[in-house]
Amino acid sequence: MAELFPYLPRRNQTEIIQEITNALTKRTQFVFESGTGSGKTICVLAAALSYALEHNKKIIYTTRTNAQQQQVIHELRAIKKKNNDTRIYGVGIQGRGNMCLLARDDPEIQNGNSEELSRFCSYQKKLTVQEKRKGCRYYRNYLSDKDRVDAIMLWALKNLPTAEEFIQTCEKQVLCPYEINKLIVHDALVIVVPYVYVFDKSIRIKLFDWLAIAEEDVILIIDEAHNLPDYLRELFSMELSSWMLTSCLMEAEQYGNPSLADGRISVSSFCKELLDVITVLRDTYVYGILEGGIRKINPEKNDALIPSQELEVEVLSRLKITSRTLKDIIIDLYAYGEKIKEYKQKDEKLPRSYLHNLGVFLSFWTTVEMDQYIKLVVDNSQGKNPRVEAYCLDPSIGTSIFWDVHCSIHMSGTLEPLDEYRDSLGLPLETRLAVYPSPFPEENRKIFFVRDVTTRYEELMKDKTILPQMWKYVSGICNRFEKNTMVIFPSYNTLSLFRKNGCFAEIHRCLYIEEQNMSQSELMELVNDFKSCGDDTGAALFSVMGGRISEGMDFPAEQLEIAVIVGIPYPKPTARQHGLQNYYDQKFGKGFEYAVQAPAARKMLQAIGRLIRDEDDRGVAVILDKRAPRFHQYINEMRESKNLLADIGRFIKQ
Ligand code: SF4
Repeated sequence: MAELFPYLPRRNQTEIIQEITNALTKRTQFVFESGTGSGKTICVLAAALSYALEHNKKIIYTTRTNAQQQQVIHELRAIKKKNNDTRIYGVGIQGRGNMCLLARDDPEIQNGNSEELSRFCSYQKKLTVQEKRKGCRYYRNYLSDKDRVDAIMLWALKNLPTAEEFIQTCEKQVLCPYEINKLIVHDALVIVVPYVYVFDKSIRIKLFDWLAIAEEDVILIIDEAHNLPDYLRELFSMELSSWMLTSCLMEAEQYGNPSLADGRISVSSFCKELLDVITVLRDTYVYGILEGGIRKINPEKNDALIPSQELEVEVLSRLKITSRTLKDIIIDLYAYGEKIKEYKQKDEKLPRSYLHNLGVFLSFWTTVEMDQYIKLVVDNSQGKNPRVEAYCLDPSIGTSIFWDVHCSIHMSGTLEPLDEYRDSLGLPLETRLAVYPSPFPEENRKIFFVRDVTTRYEELMKDKTILPQMWKYVSGICNRFEKNTMVIFPSYNTLSLFRKNGCFAEIHRCLYIEEQNMSQSELMELVNDFKSCGDDTGAALFSVMGGRISEGMDFPAEQLEIAVIVGIPYPKPTARQHGLQNYYDQKFGKGFEYAVQAPAARKMLQAIGRLIRDEDDRGVAVILDKRAPRFHQYINEMRESKNLLADIGRFIKQ
């Protein structure tokens, strides 16, 4: 294994590689935390590759973002370069929305889900084979020009392209990257995929078909693992919104509005009734009704638990039908939706049917196991789009794959508390857990907190001096130090609170502000401008905790030297959050620790982690909240500051 490692090992790396090798040999699960920039990717790749080559296994490396996927391919290239071994071969796969070149011409098709895109593609392939001038040109070339396909495969074997490079090359050659990837995957040793390829069962089955190996011959790696529990909760949750019901109504109007359950009700009447039931549930549980039927709107409240049978009972009583008839309605929605999909498919459109989706939702809603779910009514769109939601509390319902593969390795720069991660995902108690200290010099990073401010709501309401004092810290730091500074607010609401008060005019630096609805390209432009503007005098970037900047972007060297965390980023006390806390209380007796404390700690550590990316980086983080000492177990080098600007100044001068 040491032979494959392409660099001089840094602090902890030899130890990490040894632990991974032990886990692979003993077939145990391994969960570890090692700070950002400590070289986890290269350690896990070197150890797993060495084992895979020797024992005829394959590696499935799952990442959350495309940027992480690129990083894996770059490290794989470094290993291959050093070892010059043709067996070291890897491929990055993205979702079909990115890989289907035909879908790229049409934004509606590109936004289809995996099932819709798979169906769209099957039909295009059928057309290509049956009719000369129809179907998909990328598939036609793939079928007819074997030399061109072989040339691309050879090029990929030699160059280990990232998914983006591979798609671009296929596009130039007018060949389907998705189809060629299926061939490559069969020969590749490392397959780098987004989470969905492993945790969505139907997609996983396809992936294993392409690989043509058994689960037990796979080493599974989960990168940025702190994202996985929330990702799985989202994946296994389902919702029905007013917007979706309106789309159902439009679909019914367009395709003939047939009747359901032997003529008992028309599709549109059924959808209108459901729409009204959701609005009433929202009015009753989220808003609350005062005497005289007046709604009592609380702008802070946007969701509420609803009794598990409430929606069905209301629908049955309004329509005067039995639950048997509701089942018939669901079956009819499936059948009717299927026909609509077929029509659309023949029209070469995205084969999507909202009525079919409604049938799927109702079937799920009426049968879901309530010991792992809660049912909510939610309205966070100021009344425009209320919805009901079956929210999955237990991410372990999607982790059976961990038991089937040879071994799984889970890693992140911010995973503590590791027992929470293990328990949430239902990993066995004997899972090896390890936290490695930062490999960088301790003196390069300072973390301060102050005791005279907080974002705790009750205190902010009582003491009107807190917010001005908080702003004094923020503006003082931004104006005093000619260093690139990121100020991370707990939410867009808090950010706009300062903005509305006209505070931002007091910042005498280039100021960049993350807006809530920024597209990815706008955000990248903002961050790049911030990085380059700060060359001489330092710029300030105002961002939001847990967002794409504070968790997903790199700021090496002087691109970021001061991080200011405004308040503790506790999750909002929503009904969904209470449900999660209760669930963890009942299951592990650790509701607050697992559902509140741990996510807040991870968010802060992610933000602080932006400061130091290698040995020469220096940076100072500041937590503006008196509750910071509660997190000493996770951020142990944090110190109280009684004179914040002086302390920061001293660190910078050193
Ligand atoms: Fe898209 Fe490829 Fe299918 Fe053509 S063959 S529709 S390019 S995935």
